[in-house]
Amino acid sequence: MEKLKDMNDTAKITFYGGAGSVTGANFLFEVDDKKILIDCGLEQGPETAEGTNWIPFSYNPREIDILFITHAHIDHIGKIPKLIHEGFNGKIYSTKPTRALTGPMLLDTAGILSKNKDFDLGKVFSEENINKAFLQWVAFEYHEKIKITDNLEVSFKDAGHILGSAMIEFIYNNKKILFTGDLGNSPSPLLPDTEKITDADYLIMESVYGDRNHESKKDRKNLLERIIEDNYKRKGTLLIPTFSLERSQELLFELNDLVENNRIPMMPIFFDSPLAIRLTEIFKQFRNYFNEKAQKELSKDQYLFDFPGLHSTLESKDSKKINETPSPKIIIAGSGMSSGGRIVHHEKEYLPDANNTILLTGYQSLGTIGRLIQEGIKKIRISGEMVEVRAHVENILGYSGHKDSDSLLNFVEDMQDSVKKIFVVMGEPKSSMFLAQKIRDNLGIEASVPQGGESVFISL
Ligand SMILES: [Zn+2]
Repeated sequence: MEKLKDMNDTAKITFYGGAGSVTGANFLFEVDDKKILIDCGLEQGPETAEGTNWIPFSYNPREIDILFITHAHIDHIGKIPKLIHEGFNGKIYSTKPTRALTGPMLLDTAGILSKNKDFDLGKVFSEENINKAFLQWVAFEYHEKIKITDNLEVSFKDAGHILGSAMIEFIYNNKKILFTGDLGNSPSPLLPDTEKITDADYLIMESVYGDRNHESKKDRKNLLERIIEDNYKRKGTLLIPTFSLERSQELLFELNDLVENNRIPMMPIFFDSPLAIRLTEIFKQFRNYFNEKAQKELSKDQYLFDFPGLHSTLESKDSKKINETPSPKIIIAGSGMSSGGRIVHHEKEYLPDANNTILLTGYQSLGTIGRLIQEGIKKIRISGEMVEVRAHVENILGYSGHKDSDSLLNFVEDMQDSVKKIFVVMGEPKSSMFLAQKIRDNLGIEASVPQGGESVFISL
């Protein structure tokens, strides 16, 4: 009997994805006879459509009781259709905005993957599998208490990373196990700050920026204003490659403010990303999830994310007309690292002219067009065509959606008195190791970096 009790007081966590890498988050939490997954993300990078993404899961999806989703980025939701395809029949739990944002995000990824002729992904990413996911999906408010068993309770805490993003807090035997998902770079223009957690016993935390600090973001709106004005004076076109989810809406929100307060001259602003336009419609439905300041500003403004001069171009025929509009003008389009999407066509058109500007608003991965432009390349191959880069290149780095190294440490410091062990995940190995070391050295808390596929036992 004693032995059985011991077993009941132990939980097992296996780090199937997002261990030793930023993307592909996928953790299995086994407690009280339940098999619970946290996130089911696609591994992203140059090899998205190949490699380990398409080999079968290392566990049996049929045996999983519940899949919890922290937020709607593809590296946290992208393998849901594959999980369904391999027989997952349990429930999916998330916040309400996450459920709403997941639909367009998965359909967009299905569209991109279907263009890759080397793989027959149609069956995995079928509409049927995506629709089935939503039949199994239950959405909750932050802090709503969800009872899983007599001894196991769960709730979502605001992570402040993107709309609806959550940390997942499990309580078992009065012990708290917290999975952070991605942690926001608070304060954000739109979202509330990451909730303060002071009493977790075990922490499974992200570490994308575990070894780096961000530049100050205090001046980013002023910088944006200055770049827009300089470009206007040259009568140029300002290109802003941007990520569809959160970054685009943040940018619209800030442009809205600059336009309506006459801080920038009037000119056409094209919002040329079908996915971002669809996601922005969802943001409009969830304005009660914004921070107080944003809600207050928006209560004065009947047209959320809309202002004089803004043209949202959903159809590609409208997108093509952008070229006919004389400069000065602004074009916002995906993808954020210029690795695809409509921005690529605009880059071919506008990069060769020294009166134009390209503004990079976030981290650019090694090998992407965005990264090469950032590094000052003068001639670049864009979808098979050599393009001269004479346009001005500007950067605003304060737009990162993740906490930096110091903020991650502050987040842990709040629970310094309670936390027994920390597992550092979702970062490049160098970044995760650095953060784990810093937690051990500065806070004296046990911290480790699990390997992909590794299991750990925690006593509860
Ligand atoms: Zn994320």
